[in-house]
Amino acid sequence: MKRDSLFCATRCSGLLCLLGGSRFNQFSIAVAIVSGIWLSAAVATAHAAQCVIVTLTGTGPGPGVFNGLAGPGTLVRYGDDSNNCGAVKLQFDVGRGTTLRLSQLGVFPAQLNGVFFTHMHTDHTEGFADLVTLRWFFNGAGPKIDVVCSSDIVSPRDFTVSCSKFTTHIGDAFIQSGEVAQRHSEDPKNRTAGGPADLIHTITFEPKEEPQGVWSSGDVKVSAIRSTHIVGHVSYRVETPAGSVVIGGDAGNDALTPPRASSTSDQVEKLAKGTDIIVHSTIHPIMAPDKGSGMFAYAFYRQSTATDLGAMAKRAGAKYLMLTHLIPAIGAERQGPWNIPGGPLTEADYRKAVEESGFTGNIIVGTDLASVRLPGN
Ligand SMILES: [Zn+2]
Repeated sequence: MKRDSLFCATRCSGLLCLLGGSRFNQFSIAVAIVSGIWLSAAVATAHAAQCVIVTLTGTGPGPGVFNGLAGPGTLVRYGDDSNNCGAVKLQFDVGRGTTLRLSQLGVFPAQLNGVFFTHMHTDHTEGFADLVTLRWFFNGAGPKIDVVCSSDIVSPRDFTVSCSKFTTHIGDAFIQSGEVAQRHSEDPKNRTAGGPADLIHTITFEPKEEPQGVWSSGDVKVSAIRSTHIVGHVSYRVETPAGSVVIGGDAGNDALTPPRASSTSDQVEKLAKGTDIIVHSTIHPIMAPDKGSGMFAYAFYRQSTATDLGAMAKRAGAKYLMLTHLIPAIGAERQGPWNIPGGPLTEADYRKAVEESGFTGNIIVGTDLASVRLPGN
């Protein structure tokens, strides 16, 4: 759909296209008086305008909790004005409280088309049991949900990181407690005997150094690339006719310690070339080991700093940088057991850290449910 209709230009010319439509409605009424026939044709055109909405479903600071923030996750919705950009709904990572945030958006587990995991750290996965159990409970007859993640990989320390085992065994605690049998017995036609895992279609792929297609539905295509954080970590790009978004996850540079050109991932940068939006976990430079936070060096260095992310977004030509999974959270006195040198950080502190990079695009310092909507091209 081209953005050549008058309505589209009226509604969606702003970079941040808001979900409301009062200006549109007033305008519609005015035009209706002039020509009802022309209006109905134009509305049909406007309703078909494609759009994408990227929403942070959780921006919390990691395994720890702070002030009710949900764990990391991003919802990408694509569609057109007639379905409020909601024909396709993809969830990237499912941190603690994801279903609660989704419910605030009017999105329920059964409506998701796919779930994608960047990595198996619990702060990115611990909301998944809740999500699929709810799905099984109310929509137990299916269909299955696609869950996309990297294939099993043996760590250099000789244990296996396995997304496929995670999804296969996601309901095991509730099988052991008898809850799955209990709920199945209450409604055997609509709830499978095997529990939530019966409703998952796990799609795994071998992470590569170049982007590869891992999922698609109609106009929506998702590609992935290997990135460094823990073994099996991957980053994703969602391509739609209305715009594109890269979900970096917790990616950092392959060189795990300085000296290095950047804390950001070369692979994510490759994936992000020319994208509209980059969503990325971040750590504030103030937490660096030489600044007195006391944070473990490895835990600092495997994240991307806000300043380096700004530089990467600039090089990639991104229009928006959405910071999420802020370490530390805005206003927090401490990051887990560690000090925050200089005291709690503000939104402005993160913004300033990005601006130091020279990035001149839109900076969104993430809070739960922060959204960016893109108009159709
Ligand atoms: Zn992580």
